[in-house]
Amino acid sequence: MIKLLILILLGFVGYSMIQGIIRPREKKSGWKKPRSRSHQGEEMVEDPQCGTFIPIGEAVSANIDGKQLYFCSKNCLKEYKKAHK
Ligand SMILES: [Zn+2]
Repeated sequence: MIKLLILILLGFVGYSMIQGIIRPREKKSGWKKPRSRSHQGEEMVEDPQCGTFIPIGEAVSANIDGKQLYFCSKNCLKEYKKAHK
């Protein structure tokens, strides 16, 4: 029974160590701004109003005529709505 507990403990320690090895960058760079941790892996979307590409996480999303659209700013969304009335 004690052996089993030691095994579990060792497994847990090993697991935390592996986590630390795999993701040390996240701890350093993600400390201040955890949301903007990777722009590389994030999907880019095009603003139909001004043509700018923005990471989907930073885009202003809106559902217009049943279509999900993404804008770089609320201003662009406003302009787009105005132009498509
Ligand atoms: Zn825009």
